[in-house]
Amino acid sequence: MKEKLIKALDLAIAKFLAVRRNEEDTLVVLAFHSVIDSMEDLQTGLLDPFQPMTVQDVEFVATLLRRRGFRLVTGNDLDAGNVRGPAAWLTFDDGYANNLKLLPLARRNDMPLTVFISSGNVASGEAFWWDVLFREESKRGTPAAAIAARRERLKACPPDEIRAAIVTSYGEGAMRPVADIDRPMTPAEVAALSREPLVEIGNHTHSHTILTVVDSGTQLSDIRRCQEELHRLTGRLPISIAFPNGAFDRGTLAAAAELGLRFGVTCLPRQTHPASFQTVNDRLTIGRFASIRHGRIEREVALATARTGFGQLRAERDRRLNAERCRG
Ligand SMILES: [Zn+2]
Repeated sequence: MKEKLIKALDLAIAKFLAVRRNEEDTLVVLAFHSVIDSMEDLQTGLLDPFQPMTVQDVEFVATLLRRRGFRLVTGNDLDAGNVRGPAAWLTFDDGYANNLKLLPLARRNDMPLTVFISSGNVASGEAFWWDVLFREESKRGTPAAAIAARRERLKACPPDEIRAAIVTSYGEGAMRPVADIDRPMTPAEVAALSREPLVEIGNHTHSHTILTVVDSGTQLSDIRRCQEELHRLTGRLPISIAFPNGAFDRGTLAAAAELGLRFGVTCLPRQTHPASFQTVNDRLTIGRFASIRHGRIEREVALATARTGFGQLRAERDRRLNAERCRG
């Protein structure tokens, strides 16, 4: 309820102050996951539909951002230090093969993007566990809210325990993707994708570990394993990481820094100001908006690109608190 009130207030402010001055140094990072051809694809029940986006939706987001004066960038542009003025970074988590649908759009619109890949799914070819949960429970007629509640409960466990719980419930065979829509990229597809000039490949851990659930040593080894696997497939070491579920702590930031990762994106919905990065942790705790979805695109893009409203102030406060905990 409080969230809704804050959003409504921010939206009103955003409308009132719709014309922002675009000279500002502002980075807006947007998070996406699956990309489908049409909303009907969700009727297959193969994908957890928590953030549905069609290819057309992504194109619309890019158009809106450019109309608002935002230049599209990736971690490579940040690393080169040439991000000035309003910039937006489109990011796609997990490594779904359905993200390859974006390539014609990216080429046509000169639209750079970053794909954060969990290398474990690429290696095993297994479906993402949350999609398996959704598919199998949907078949059993479980209400969507109950499936989402179980998904959230499972997120409190380390990845091997999550997999064990899923296999116990639905059998080993359930881990296999059913169609093109729910499968991870193959190693060959990751390699080919990395050769696209507009695409940056980023780290999303090897096992899709929600990092705060495991100890620092495990965090380091899982992030490192992803770096190594992606290096083996693409010939390059990623410089950006998306923390699964946006979760990080002191150990996460130390591990990312130790492995040479330059930029880390969270799920704290706030704008970032690259020119004022002072510490390594500033670069590793970049805000990101994960609220843009089919049917709510204009409203959510307006919120993400608006002047700092209450929601963003709150996210900044959370980041500071978390960063303080990270120091302490
Ligand atoms: Zn993820």
